[in-house]
Amino acid sequence: SWELSEFGERLACGSGIGELMDDLGHAIAIGGDRICMLGGGQPAHIPEIDAVWRRRIEEISAVPGELEHSLGNYEPPVGNAAFRLALAEMFQRNFGWKIGPENIAVTPGGQSAFFFILNALAGRFSDGRTKKVMLPVIPEYIGYANQSVGEDFFHAVRPRIEKIGKHRFKYRVDFEQLEVTDDIAAICVSRPTNPSGNVLTDEEIDHLANLARQHNIPLIIDGAYGVPFPNAIFTDVTPMWDDQMVLTLSLSKIGLPGTRTGIVIAREELIQSIASMTSIIGLANTNIGQTIVKPLIETDELLRLSNDVVRPFYLQKSIDAIAMAEEIFDDATPYRIHRSEGAFFLWMWFEDLPITATELYERLKRRDVLIVPGNYFFFGDQLSADKAKPWPHRDQCIRMTFTMPEEKVRKGLETIADEVQRAYRSK
Ligand code: PLP
Repeated sequence: SWELSEFGERLACGSGIGELMDDLGHAIAIGGDRICMLGGGQPAHIPEIDAVWRRRIEEISAVPGELEHSLGNYEPPVGNAAFRLALAEMFQRNFGWKIGPENIAVTPGGQSAFFFILNALAGRFSDGRTKKVMLPVIPEYIGYANQSVGEDFFHAVRPRIEKIGKHRFKYRVDFEQLEVTDDIAAICVSRPTNPSGNVLTDEEIDHLANLARQHNIPLIIDGAYGVPFPNAIFTDVTPMWDDQMVLTLSLSKIGLPGTRTGIVIAREELIQSIASMTSIIGLANTNIGQTIVKPLIETDELLRLSNDVVRPFYLQKSIDAIAMAEEIFDDATPYRIHRSEGAFFLWMWFEDLPITATELYERLKRRDVLIVPGNYFFFGDQLSADKAKPWPHRDQCIRMTFTMPEEKVRKGLETIADEVQRAYRSK
């Protein structure tokens, strides 16, 4: 076989999460309808939202030349000028951000935006230094974990775990452990956090922003599920951006993952860097997502849909899933659910579980219930290399998607409760 470069070895030979996703896909292919697929980040098909896309495609088709323009042209790598202007004006109008189209770049999805940004800021420098990206809270989005083209570049900080009542908990940034040294290139957090559903408070974000400003490094906020769109956030948060921040947004979770449209909001120098990387790697972006939503941005309908349709939809899903869990789990079982403050997942912690999350995943899979074992989300934890500082928590959590139809979520929770209770009993 052909020899692979370091880049090839790192990116072309699969990854833990890649294998897991394959495994999940395989289970669905064999199991078909029987399977409870509670493992993905797929947005739900909300009828009112799907109807908007259908209407927009009809409108686009009805205007002579519009469809041809969207499908038949290469746009500049930074994105369509009118789309970026519409976005900048929407942010000015609604949130008072000091922002222009020069602060906005389009990317092929948020995922690619992270590949570009993280590799441009962290890793090996021409003078031999290396820099890392600080994750102020783990668990954090698995999609970042394997993106480095060079050496591993995450420095993750374990959070404080706040136990709430008998069956809830919440992660808090442990600012005492957060030491921004010279080799930290950026601070990065998803808000809401995939997988935990945590939403860092405005105060926590302010504190992180101050740290970033003091050290003149960017604070990267991944708003894939966040404000202002799709607004799958159930707490009160203020949409924030200033030129020390890099905010990434996406059209995926509002219902257009197939258009692969990511949006980066940052100072102009980073926007130009992203445009450069887009042109080198892919020449240009897909246009159709930008074409579909541009008028919805101009009229603030995208914000209205986020606030009035998308947010209530996922909030209700979250409330229903938690109510089902309370009903299904035996109260004596030491289960805890992370406060569901946003995104599409219940993050469950089974303290002192006698089996690992991976074993639990296997047992659930045998019963046609697919979840994601939590250990995948704990990457970059430098302390875990130190045998004296083990963290059993990382093997005691699972992520379960709650966006599926109620009967699937119910069957999933029943099976999880049964397996977990059985595991505790066997202790
Ligand atoms: N960020 C987070 C936290 C996500 O969960 C996802 C997708 O699941 C992404 C970014 C990337 O999404 P996309 O590339 O579809 O915009």
